[in-house]
Amino acid sequence: MTDYSAGAAWMNGKIMPIGQASIGVLDWGLTHSDVTYDVVPVWRGGFFRLDDYLDRFMTSMAELRLEPGIDRAGIRAALVQMVAASGLRDAYVAMVCSRGAPIVPGTRDPRYCANHFFAWCVPYVNIIPPERVAEGVSVYIPDDIHRIPEDSVNPRAKNYHWGDFTQGLFAAKDRDFDTVLLTDHAGNVTEGPGFNAFIIKGNRVVTSDHGVLHGLTRRTAIEMCQVEGFTVETRPLPLTEFLEADEVFLTTSSGGVMPVARVNDRLFGNGAPGPQGMALRDTYFRWMEREDFRDDIPYDS
Ligand code: PLP
Repeated sequence: MTDYSAGAAWMNGKIMPIGQASIGVLDWGLTHSDVTYDVVPVWRGGFFRLDDYLDRFMTSMAELRLEPGIDRAGIRAALVQMVAASGLRDAYVAMVCSRGAPIVPGTRDPRYCANHFFAWCVPYVNIIPPERVAEGVSVYIPDDIHRIPEDSVNPRAKNYHWGDFTQGLFAAKDRDFDTVLLTDHAGNVTEGPGFNAFIIKGNRVVTSDHGVLHGLTRRTAIEMCQVEGFTVETRPLPLTEFLEADEVFLTTSSGGVMPVARVNDRLFGNGAPGPQGMALRDTYFRWMEREDFRDDIPYDS
């Protein structure tokens, strides 16, 4: 039997162990970061909000003028078949569309590349280990590294332009922080490597609406907060306001809602995860099993 314990990939209609999947060295996805992708979680044997993730992926491809050569129903079927074959019950499932290799050797004309779709899945990823989340995440906000401006790279089309995040992660790790969060050039909080950021102040919840990916966990968090009776504001979020919050939390498909205990030298909740953020974290994992958000996977066994 094929061993899919490390994950599986779907390449050109074939499903294979992830270690066998590869793309060519001339692919613009690699040489120019000219690629879009999306990541949907699988939880307890079912996709969470699959149609919402597919909607975002289709929009990202259209925005970047990428043509995957497969329609939405075909992409959906590929993801379902791949995860079913992998046997993974909790998974991180990536769908990718790359510009591909030039059809005309050496061309700089993006119209002459062989766009292609592929997908892969690995066991569920927590971008911050759950034991660290239980203690409260620490976040570094540098003052000398900023998120790439949204009129240079559209953050709502999910992308691999992570140079700013990688530089920021080195700066954060050098200082023993769990992760980094970047501001824009006007001093507003944007997003981090794989997550959106929220504040709670009284009965108000605020998250940025610009310079960020509109995360699906962000959307779920907004809906959860509305159910809890918070007033939710999506607007620019100045760093000064951010640092005066009662609580801060991060949202990601790779770990859910993650309460923050420290930002730079500012402690929240005396350095422990806030109670409202922790309650939202629990609710998120319950919502991951909601029937109306779920597509069960037809595993072989
Ligand atoms: N912002 C960025 C830059 C991301 O890469 C991600 C996810 O990978 C997010 C935000 C969170 O989005 P989602 O909740 O859809 O995972």
